[in-house]
Amino acid sequence: MIKELSLFNTLGKKKMPFVPINKEKVTFYSCGPTVYDYAHIGNLRYFTFVDTLRRTLEFLGYNVEHVMNITDVGHLSDDGDLGEDKMLRGVEREKKKQGKEFTVWDLAQFYTDAFIADSQKMNFLPPHQLTKATQHIQGMIDLIQSLVDQGYAYKTSKAVYFDVTKFADYTKLSGQKLDEKHVGVRDEVVVDEEKHHPADFRLWQLDQPDHAMQWDSPWGKGFPGWHIECSAMAMEYLGETLDIHTGGIDHIPVHHTNEIAQSEASTGKQFANYWLHSDFLRVDDEKMAKSKGNAYNLSDIMAKGFSALALRFFYLSAHYRTTLNFTWEALEGAQSAYENLWTQVMTARTLVAKTSYSGQKAEIIDEARLTEYVHKFTDAMLDDLNTPLAIAVLWEVIKSESTPATKIAFFEKVESVMGLSLLSAPTLYDDSFLDKATQTEVIEMVIQRDEAKAQKDYELSDTLRESITKKGFIAIDTVAGTIAIPSF
Ligand SMILES: [Zn+2]
Repeated sequence: MIKELSLFNTLGKKKMPFVPINKEKVTFYSCGPTVYDYAHIGNLRYFTFVDTLRRTLEFLGYNVEHVMNITDVGHLSDDGDLGEDKMLRGVEREKKKQGKEFTVWDLAQFYTDAFIADSQKMNFLPPHQLTKATQHIQGMIDLIQSLVDQGYAYKTSKAVYFDVTKFADYTKLSGQKLDEKHVGVRDEVVVDEEKHHPADFRLWQLDQPDHAMQWDSPWGKGFPGWHIECSAMAMEYLGETLDIHTGGIDHIPVHHTNEIAQSEASTGKQFANYWLHSDFLRVDDEKMAKSKGNAYNLSDIMAKGFSALALRFFYLSAHYRTTLNFTWEALEGAQSAYENLWTQVMTARTLVAKTSYSGQKAEIIDEARLTEYVHKFTDAMLDDLNTPLAIAVLWEVIKSESTPATKIAFFEKVESVMGLSLLSAPTLYDDSFLDKATQTEVIEMVIQRDEAKAQKDYELSDTLRESITKKGFIAIDTVAGTIAIPSF
């Protein structure tokens, strides 16, 4: 039974009960990476939020159709369509780094693969569709054509633009005044004096003969603007009105504002019912920036001995709508908390497995407690994905006086939401334990040690503890005797 999920909707600026258009299938579009470089830890925070939302919806019983785009055609380094092209800048950098020819297509493939590899390490569920912009150009052209036909778009000698003054309520998502959008126009690289309004944004870029990616269009050879790709792909896969659309809060004033304008102008329908945005990640209390050298990526994190899941745990420890400050000390704290949680869960699992292995009567799961725990956890997630509160419930359960069987039953129910892989490693007693010889030896040592302790032979008991440690396990004394768990 689905209880009420409440999500903070940027459109309306308040928490609202989540009601999908079609109960059978929730349609969910997330703005994805621009593949000109590795994802940095700010990007990874956003993708952790996306994954948590997806996992929570599925936990609540919804069938989710999740689409994410890969921006593999150049978009300009400023989200307002100003500045230089991120993809072209990436190509120049890679040419220098690799000392060989490197095309924009090579760049896109290389960093798409890197993004997928990072996503696997972070334990992100793969979107049902990971759509490349370059494979959806015709859909973008069709959408632009419908805007031109309806009088929302016009062509100059340099580009096809969306006319923001034609779309009522253009700034409804950000709440900005249209005048405020003049800011930054003087920095524009391609000055176009034929533009009607400074805030008009490019749908199709023309007159860039040096650009490596070009397609024919009814307006001439060129390439799409960034915003149009998300509208075209989201509607192609998910229909004209989606349930949920996500991005970082930096997307609110420009990218998502423009997505709404062009989609809704074209269809006359609301584009997405729920707009969700995750907040910024700061580093050492400063804005993260490539130029400052603090825009770390996952390899930087792992090179310092941290696991990707410790980084995930760090992100989940803060609500997605709060600014989170990254420091190496904070990550160290998260890593040690995560290891501690993992070890305690493994201990409880091994206790249950040992009882069953030694033919003892299995412990009874306290169903009333279990229900209470699951409700508490679920309530936290229903409240706009309150992950810090959900993590507090994980600690409360693992530290409680409940039986290990009750604890494990709880973790089995909620593990899919946090994606922390707390249950995936085999215990000493599992058939899936790979090193069979070690498994047999350590199980025997545990039996001998329990006997030695029963006979108060502490010398032998200590020797056996050392032998267990040498095999790569940690020996823990519990009321049920020795528990050997593989070290983290
Ligand atoms: Zn987007």
